[in-house]
Amino acid sequence: MTESRAKTATASLAIDAGRLRADIDAVNAIGRIDGMPGINRISFSDADMAGRRWLLGRIEEAGLAPRMDAVGNVFGRWEAGAGPALLAGSHLDTVPHGGPLDGTLGVCAALEAVRAMRDAGLRPVRPVEVVATADEEGRFGGMLGSQAICGEVGPDWIAAAVDDGGVRLVDAMRAQGLDPAAAASADRRREIAAFLELHVEQGPVLEASGDRIGVVDAVSGVFNWTVTLNGEANHSGTTPMDLRRDAFRGMAGFGAAIDGILARHGGPDTRLTVGKVALSPNFPHSIAGRAVFSLIGRDVDEAVMRAVADACRAEIERAAAAHGLGVAIAEQSWLPPTAMDPAIAGRLATIAGAARTMPSGAGHDAQTFARHLPAGLIFVPSRGGVSHSPDEWTDWAEVEHGATVLARAVAAAASEPAVTG
Ligand SMILES: [Zn+2]
Repeated sequence: MTESRAKTATASLAIDAGRLRADIDAVNAIGRIDGMPGINRISFSDADMAGRRWLLGRIEEAGLAPRMDAVGNVFGRWEAGAGPALLAGSHLDTVPHGGPLDGTLGVCAALEAVRAMRDAGLRPVRPVEVVATADEEGRFGGMLGSQAICGEVGPDWIAAAVDDGGVRLVDAMRAQGLDPAAAASADRRREIAAFLELHVEQGPVLEASGDRIGVVDAVSGVFNWTVTLNGEANHSGTTPMDLRRDAFRGMAGFGAAIDGILARHGGPDTRLTVGKVALSPNFPHSIAGRAVFSLIGRDVDEAVMRAVADACRAEIERAAAAHGLGVAIAEQSWLPPTAMDPAIAGRLATIAGAARTMPSGAGHDAQTFARHLPAGLIFVPSRGGVSHSPDEWTDWAEVEHGATVLARAVAAAASEPAVTG
């Protein structure tokens, strides 16, 4: 094939939409559990591992070399050309009661991209690999799979990681025949030229604007706090309102201040969420002596994140002081925003023809890779902006369009001497 004919074949590369849909349906038959709506392939559960084994089989049927690494990442390698590989994929693990496309779409579309390239007789200049990463949903607090591939997780982190229920990561891995002691062997930074990911938007922006493809320019940074307000539990009838140290009212005072914080310090991409609250004693006839709540803040600009975080701290202290409460703020994590590769983003937009450049408020594997090598991330619209829910959906026409854009982007990046040029 001449260079110009190869370029034409890449630009008009077609996927088999029926084959893609059959794969998405097949993997989503795994993880349906009585009494748990939606898809339940929670990291390192039996269903998660069954999904990974299903993928290994599909990779083999496609004529690629299947492999699972020490932490559970699954790869399908097309041994072509020379040098570092182009990697494309996403994750197969889900949150509890998850949706059918979060992660699954990106894995199945990457596999379909490679099959379409092989069917079209394309000859890549470098190896191409499909990946399904392990624990993207963060059961153990990070993005274990992509972070292991990028050499970010050391033995200390793995030894200390525990899920919400107190299960240790090392035990969950060993129960599935994985070897936590060999996690360092998952580091493949030097073997990867670039990473591409297709994902559902998980938000309402594309549906509202009518754009079919979102090209992500930056992934929001995140701070994760646990805030504890300490007052005094007492009788709800005998304690006058002005003599209380009511932890609920302190927490509510901070909640009422959030709009003002956003107005003064936030931008269009700022997000502040109190998603988990615990009062104690948590009894209708008792004043709450203690309130513990989560606070998650996000923005694509770290200076904005910092200003919002400082304002949150000041408002929490003000609300606590108004009710005589002690304050403890534990910062569980501070992840800075990540810029995606501008050259790859430009290429993705060109291939899509029409696309909206946008930030991602949610974290994705692509952001882990972007810290180490050129990475690109595209979105398709989420119906109603819903995700992490059994109601998560994207119309098949949009799934097919997004998968086609991914396939052409994979083909272009695998076929040209410079991945990002
Ligand atoms: Zn996801």
